[in-house]
Amino acid sequence: MTRTLAEVATEAATCTRCRLAESRTQVVFGVGNAEADLMFIGEAPGFHEDRQGEPFVGAAGQLLTRMLGEIGLRREDVYIANVLRCRPPGNRDPLPEEIEACTPWLAETISIVQPLVIVTLGNFATKFVLNTQRGITSMRGGVYGWHGRKVIPTFHPAAILHGGGEKSRQFLDLRDDFALIRKTLNATPEPPPTPEPPQAPAAVRAEDEQLELF
Ligand code: URA
Repeated sequence: MTRTLAEVATEAATCTRCRLAESRTQVVFGVGNAEADLMFIGEAPGFHEDRQGEPFVGAAGQLLTRMLGEIGLRREDVYIANVLRCRPPGNRDPLPEEIEACTPWLAETISIVQPLVIVTLGNFATKFVLNTQRGITSMRGGVYGWHGRKVIPTFHPAAILHGGGEKSRQFLDLRDDFALIRKTLNATPEPPPTPEPPQAPAAVRAEDEQLELF
């Protein structure tokens, strides 16, 4: 039987599947609408997220919230999670064994929320979800088929903030990508198509990738 997000989050709260359990303040499971059509996947909690227990609450989160507003959405309308549920010390990159241990939480989250559209934020989430080595600069701007859902990769908001903010070319690209998210949502009929998502995004095979440029 399918569990509720609250049940899964309760179990995850005491997770010790990897060593990040030793350094975290708390597990940052995810936030938002459990029946959202749109889900965002970032990399891992940072300092503020680790303290507050909610993804994307720092400066990058504020930019994400603002971009959502520009396409008529609030944080409560979408679901927001990360590849990792615990903060890596010093915000270092996630390790392969941490990803392997944590991925089942993400897979179960996707299978409960059943989003029509998944937005991967930044290189890390994009490479992981779409099982690609291509960088975000070449991946963004497209819509990719993934197990019956649509994936839209875009820049991580933190990369925009570190790379010149609103005056940067990347910010304009981010805006374009959010317009693409809006357009894709408007064009995507309910209910979500079958089949169910895989047990773990890492299991996605390269041949599942199909570029559908809108
Ligand atoms: N960066 C991420 O990738 N996730 C967060 O939750 C916050 C910052």
